[in-house]
Amino acid sequence: MRTVCGLATARGFAVGPVFVYRGDGDIPIPEYVVESGREGEELARLRRALNETKRDLESLVATLRARTGRADAKIFECHLMILEDSVLCRETEKHIREDRVNAEAAVRRTADRARSMFERMNDPYFRERVRDLDDVERRLLKNLLGFAANPHVELKTPSIVVADDLTPSETVQLPRALVLGFATNGGSATSHVALLARAMGIPAVTGLGDITALVEPGETILLDGTGGTVIVAPDASAIREFRDLVERQKEISEEAVTGAPAGTLRDGGRVKLYANLHPGAPLEDVKSLGARGVGLYRSEYLWLNKEAEPSEDEQYRAYREVVEFAKTLSSEASVTIRVLDIGGDKMVRGISQRGEVRQREANPFLGNRSIRYLLSNKAVFRTQLRAILRASVHGRVCILYPMISCIEELRQSAAVLADVRAQLDAEGVPYDRDVPVGAMIEVPSAAINAAALAKHVRFFSIGTNDLVQYTMAADRGNESVAHLYQPTNPAVLRLMRHVIDVAKKQGISVGVCGESAADPLVGVLWAAMGIDILSMSATYIPVMSKLFSKLTRADLDEYLAAVDAIGDEATGEETMARCREWMLSKIPDLDNIVF
Ligand code: PEP
Ligand code: MG
Repeated sequence: MRTVCGLATARGFAVGPVFVYRGDGDIPIPEYVVESGREGEELARLRRALNETKRDLESLVATLRARTGRADAKIFECHLMILEDSVLCRETEKHIREDRVNAEAAVRRTADRARSMFERMNDPYFRERVRDLDDVERRLLKNLLGFAANPHVELKTPSIVVADDLTPSETVQLPRALVLGFATNGGSATSHVALLARAMGIPAVTGLGDITALVEPGETILLDGTGGTVIVAPDASAIREFRDLVERQKEISEEAVTGAPAGTLRDGGRVKLYANLHPGAPLEDVKSLGARGVGLYRSEYLWLNKEAEPSEDEQYRAYREVVEFAKTLSSEASVTIRVLDIGGDKMVRGISQRGEVRQREANPFLGNRSIRYLLSNKAVFRTQLRAILRASVHGRVCILYPMISCIEELRQSAAVLADVRAQLDAEGVPYDRDVPVGAMIEVPSAAINAAALAKHVRFFSIGTNDLVQYTMAADRGNESVAHLYQPTNPAVLRLMRHVIDVAKKQGISVGVCGESAADPLVGVLWAAMGIDILSMSATYIPVMSKLFSKLTRADLDEYLAAVDAIGDEATGEETMARCREWMLSKIPDLDNIVF
């Protein structure tokens, strides 16, 4: 048996035969000089292939919208934008007209130039976009050369797909019912396989290095998307163990939403389990998985892949859609819309291209991001607040300010909001006059000074993804410092405890919307500290709900005392081990529940 470690990209387990997906390799490109006077014919060939590719993409978008939901379709909407990009089109035509090269060679030259531009950008989001460009180029070349547009996939039996990396087209064109899991050499947290795998509920491990070289087609492997490992050449008992895990995983998802609302404790107490969503996220399963509201709506997705700001109306439509949807989740449901949280690892094309944020910044995670950006670009802030307030008449909306680090930011944001309200009043536009405003607590200074901040907001939402990163000074996306990224480090625990205690004392609601909310041991610990809402990817709600259904409030108190007893000298790992030990003592079949 050999265990290969990678990145835990989408939770869950899989056992099955390997299907090595090699794509269809590099397409050989003919290159020749076009006879003088025949450039027009070459331009017409290019135009025909562009139109054909556009039709292919439009029909793919329509099929995906009907089949899987918006997230998948959005990727190909972005491909359409790349295909129709006027700069790229003009450049390709120029190669034909001025360099007199054939259309295929002209396409390759344009794509190569754009690729090297993307690759030079020190930004994972843009580097990932190279895959989109490859995908569009491949489609266009195939149409020019008269090849069929779809990859030829011989996947006939349920298998774990092993690949170097997958383009979005390749990922969605694999027959979903036959894909048990994804294991790829490359890929990052922002990769399309990651996004699509989570949206499709398929376990995935990425960043495995050379997994394609370690496996043979047809051999059985085990994939643990929760731990981020793949086991090659497993023995019979490991296979049995994984088969059991897969079975249990299926049962738990099917058990979701029966009887009591998700998050109900054995003694009837409750922790609210809400969903994290973003524009374009598939909504179909959110309800059946048990989400009772939307605890974090990451609005920045409306800005991704865009040259221009989304208009007020475009934003209003997106917010209204999620607000209307939330009403179907429960009578208590609210939607917490977080205002534009860009910067750091989340760069937005139009904004970064205008150079307002990243190009002058050596340290974008500590730079002009999130609320700082909005307060220095008030027109953007005002438009967004107008759109959110307009949507608030359709259901219960909360406004959340990201990356708050000091009280001035809350004061200034309140002034902008007051302006926007006055403007809407003057125009006679209706909105909910009681929209709660909250602060994300994800910067240590905000956590330490929580008592002062609490006087200015109606709720806190703790963003542990960033709070851990900033407290430990460990980049959340950097594998080489992952050992320091510890949600249970005593310093993080102290901050969490302090923020929750302050919120309780001052009578405001407090939730966690970082990934740790869905970690069975850590999420329960936050609940034990007194968290009201845990907001997470909806896929993880059934497991968390099952765990809570086995515990009482007295158990949670006991859990917290057990963690407290271990003291400040414990490492994050030791605390996790203690958490697990306690949990196993209460729930002996823990490993049958947790995936
Ligand atoms: C967080 O930081 O925990 C959070 C929820 O925000 P994001 O992951 O979008 O930065
Ligand atoms: Mg954050």
